[in-house]
Amino acid sequence: MTDIGVYRYGHRPMRDKRVTTHVALTARAFGASGIIVDTRDEQLEKSIRKVVNDFGGNFSIDTGVSLDRFLKDSKSKILIHLTMYGIPIDQSIGKINELMASGKDIAIFVGAEKVPGKVYAESTINVSVTSQPISEISALAILMDRIMGGKEFSIKFPGKLRVVPMERGKKVVIVPDRARCLEILRENSLPPESFERAVNIESLSMKIASGIECDINLVSACSMLLPLLESRPESIKLLNDISKTVAESVSKIDNAIRQKDSMNGALSNEEKIVVFSAQRISSIQEDDEEQDRAGEFFREFEIMDHEIYGQNPDKNENGKRDTFRKT
Ligand code: SAM
Repeated sequence: MTDIGVYRYGHRPMRDKRVTTHVALTARAFGASGIIVDTRDEQLEKSIRKVVNDFGGNFSIDTGVSLDRFLKDSKSKILIHLTMYGIPIDQSIGKINELMASGKDIAIFVGAEKVPGKVYAESTINVSVTSQPISEISALAILMDRIMGGKEFSIKFPGKLRVVPMERGKKVVIVPDRARCLEILRENSLPPESFERAVNIESLSMKIASGIECDINLVSACSMLLPLLESRPESIKLLNDISKTVAESVSKIDNAIRQKDSMNGALSNEEKIVVFSAQRISSIQEDDEEQDRAGEFFREFEIMDHEIYGQNPDKNENGKRDTFRKT
């Protein structure tokens, strides 16, 4: 997949704080892998990293990178300069798509103050979004939408905070990350064997989850917190206070394990992965000879998944399998 990076030129920390923040947030939400800003701005870095930490993804931010350095680093990329003086997007997108097909990555240049002539000269293509002065945020959003072909709306951000879309009102789901789950286990003085079980289930679940279309954070949280519920059923109240989503999934996983129904159709991909891992870790714990077999479980999981549901073995556009999709 083509990597898309954004460069913000002419950033003035006091004056442009809000606009540059929004350029970065738009770049992230529309599928860019990171933003580079010319002027050093630690506050900006901090606020963008906080959004990434809360809402997920791998978006990077780097500030204090000179224009010359950026131009040098972009030599092997498709350098798109957003400017109202450029070739209209409808006429440019064909060329951009052709260049993308050659496997080159994209660097998008967004200005703030007067842009030096060498940017016009050295860019692969100067692109306008209307030939009128508009906001760099809207220009970037429209360009990225055309480059992504609308796929930005299906990007998944498995963060600690997820907005649940609804017609009216506001709902945000909280999924504790691994560090917070470890804290919860410690705060509740989980016995060492349950603690070890939590870490082992999570490790196996993560291996399986890496090849499957699923919410990695939810898999991690359920894996880590399942042994808490197993050793203390009353902790469901605590889990509910922490996250209703996780509490609901953990109790479904716990039920499926008790009923020995690991591929129950009512379970989500995430829940099935944890049920499977928890069962395998139990068998490892009971049988020392199985200690080294964790790597084989992924293959075993695939076969079982295939036998039960049938599936398209092709990988999806994210390079992952849509397992458990009934065909
Ligand atoms: N006064 C600045 C100048 O003389 O270059 C332009 C300020 S403008 C708000 C900041 C940036 O928004 C520009 O550098 C360009 O990247 C982007 N921009 C503004 N209008 C645009 C348009 N119609 N199409 C594409 N990009 C545009």
